[in-house]
Amino acid sequence: MFIELTDHLRCPADHEESFLVLLPVRMDGRRVVEGTLGCPRCGREVVIVGGVADFGGGEDSPAGTALDAAAVATFVGLEGPGGYLGLFGSAAAAADRLADLLPGIRLVLVNPPAGTAENEMTSMVRAGRSPLKSRSMRAAVMAGSAAADPVWVDRAADAVLPGNRLVVAGPMLARPDLEVLMEGAGLWVARKAPNRPVGA
Ligand SMILES: [Zn+2]
Repeated sequence: MFIELTDHLRCPADHEESFLVLLPVRMDGRRVVEGTLGCPRCGREVVIVGGVADFGGGEDSPAGTALDAAAVATFVGLEGPGGYLGLFGSAAAAADRLADLLPGIRLVLVNPPAGTAENEMTSMVRAGRSPLKSRSMRAAVMAGSAAADPVWVDRAADAVLPGNRLVVAGPMLARPDLEVLMEGAGLWVARKAPNRPVGA
C-alpha cells in the first residue's frame, strides 16, 4: 500500500473513528511492503504483509463482475488527477481499466478477488469491516457481496467526500444524505449531500 494511504485509513473497531499509526518495516519507494498499523485508541495492530494491509476477517471476492469499467468511470463523475477512489469487493476486478480511464487517481482495493495484482496506482486492503476513513475517498464503487451488505454500503457512503458519488451494483440503501442520480440494471449511483443534513 502507498504510505500516504495511511491518512485515509481508520480502525474498523466499534469505537469513535480513529486514525492509525504506521510503523513501516520494509519500504519499496512510496510503498509499504511490510509493517504494522496501530490504533492508539484500542491498541489493535494490523499487519501489512506483501504490501497488503490485513485488518482481519476479509474474504476474497469473486472475480466475475458485470461492471463495465468505462461506464463506472463515467458514473463516478471525477475530473482531474489526485485523491483516491475506493473499489469494494468484485469492483476491484475493474482496477486496471479504471486506472487507465482515470489517470492520476489512486485506487484502494478493499477485499479484491484472489490473484489481483497491484499496479502502480493501487493499494490493497483486506478487512471484515471497511477500514476507509469518513470523507476520505473521491468516490466509491461496490460490487459482489459488499454491495449486497447494507453495513458495507453504509460505511462506503461514509468514506465518500461530501458532494461526491457512490456507485453500487446491488440493492439500494436509503440514507438521508444520499441523492440517487440513477438506478437500473442492478446498479445505482448516488451523490452524497455536500453537507450533512441537520439531525442525520
Ligand atoms: Zn481501534
